[in-house]
Amino acid sequence: MTSTDPDDFTGYSPDTIAIAAGRPPRVPGGPVNTPVVFSSTFHAGTDVGYARTSVATWEAFEETLGLLEGGHCLSFASGLAALSAVLELVPTGGIVVAPDAAYSGTLARLDALQDASRVSVRRVDVADAEALRLACRGASVVIVESPTNPTMEICDLRALVEATRGSGALLVCDNTFATPMGQHPLALGADVALHSATKFISGHSDLLMGALVVTDAELHDSLRRIRNLTGGVPGPMETFLALRGLRTLPLRWRQAQANAMELARRLSAHPAVKRVRYPGLPTDPGHDIAAQQMDGFGAVLAIEPRASATAIDEMCGRTRLWVHATSLGGVESMLERRQRWADEPDTVPDALVRLTVGCEDVEDLWSDLSTALDTLLPR
Ligand SMILES: *Cc1c(COP(=O)(O)O)cnc(C)c1O
Repeated sequence: MTSTDPDDFTGYSPDTIAIAAGRPPRVPGGPVNTPVVFSSTFHAGTDVGYARTSVATWEAFEETLGLLEGGHCLSFASGLAALSAVLELVPTGGIVVAPDAAYSGTLARLDALQDASRVSVRRVDVADAEALRLACRGASVVIVESPTNPTMEICDLRALVEATRGSGALLVCDNTFATPMGQHPLALGADVALHSATKFISGHSDLLMGALVVTDAELHDSLRRIRNLTGGVPGPMETFLALRGLRTLPLRWRQAQANAMELARRLSAHPAVKRVRYPGLPTDPGHDIAAQQMDGFGAVLAIEPRASATAIDEMCGRTRLWVHATSLGGVESMLERRQRWADEPDTVPDALVRLTVGCEDVEDLWSDLSTALDTLLPR
């Protein structure tokens, strides 16, 4: 459906690809955007059959994200639907390696599969390259996040690729926090880049979507079959909005990332803040590896204010611009104490507040946040 051969984009910058890819053929009077088709079925006579298998709007989104990430993309109904499709590849009783702190939904899904004796899960500190190397022995699938949600740990992806090379383990890197603007797991040697497109890719906190990007054509075929049979497919409206959001990812990313760096510096000097985790800070434990494998440091940071959980929750409710809500990656800045959720892993400190930095003016953001943090200081 889309006009372009991926080769047409060789040599173009991601800024250009995000805007120029995934367009319909240029025909006089034709639309500039791929139309949103609200139809579950199609007239007989061609390969196009049923909307669980393939939809033109998906293909436009998949072409664009695939080019940015450097592989073949499949879109899903959510990040967890994308994860679930990958986990279908694990044989019964197979070993899955996962981070000890990661997105709570990913860990809860793995726990549920382990409880049902479907898989066996090994949790590991992904910032500890040696522990990770040992945990990967005999594994079917290794899932990592880098940076991790919400602890902002950095995994040495090159060392992990080395450790799993030739072992037959499928290496899945959840690239939600870094986005294809900030990190290319496939180029570093991972087999699968996983995204919650709900976050930075769509960028406006208005939809749920997920994606998998792979380089291997056979793996792409298997995952496409799994998607068709498990049915976790995105709706046409979501896909249209996600592509519309993806067009401005490079612009949003630069602004949000610059804001995050400045806020990380200022937060490090705020007396109510005990600890800041942001890989862009030269003092951060993950900085050196992040600087080698990432292109920039992203727009999420974690802080631990010096106060009780209750006082921190109240502080989060006192901001005017920052939205006290879960999720991340939107144009609007948000914050929350992660342990307010019952299924957050114990490895996440009680005081940890995840900040997702948006595209507002940084002085306005700082004024709002520092005023709220000041209320935590002893009087
Ligand atoms: C949000 C998130 C997911 C899950 O994505 P959904 O779109 O909410 O299903 C997976 N991984 C990470 C790192 C996330 O932040």
